[in-house]
Amino acid sequence: MIKVEVDMAKCQHYGQCVFEAPDIFSLNVDDKLEYTAEADDAERDNIEAAIDVCPMQAIRIVE
Ligand code: SF4
Repeated sequence: MIKVEVDMAKCQHYGQCVFEAPDIFSLNVDDKLEYTAEADDAERDNIEAAIDVCPMQAIRIVE
C-alpha cells in the first residue's frame, strides 16, 4: 500500500496528475482535486509520473 499526500495549499487544480494516474487523482464537479490517500502498489509508477508533472510539486509519497 502506498500513502499519497497532496499539499492542498500548493495544489492549483491544474489536473496534470489526473492524466498520469486517473485511478488516484480526479477533478470533481467544481474542478477541485480529489485523490485516493491509500493506493495499491501497482499504482506506484503512475503516482511517480504524477509527482514529476505536478507544476506545484504538491504531491508526495509518504514512505
Ligand atoms: S498536478 Fe499538482 S497542482 Fe495540478 S491538480 Fe495535481 S496535485 Fe494539484
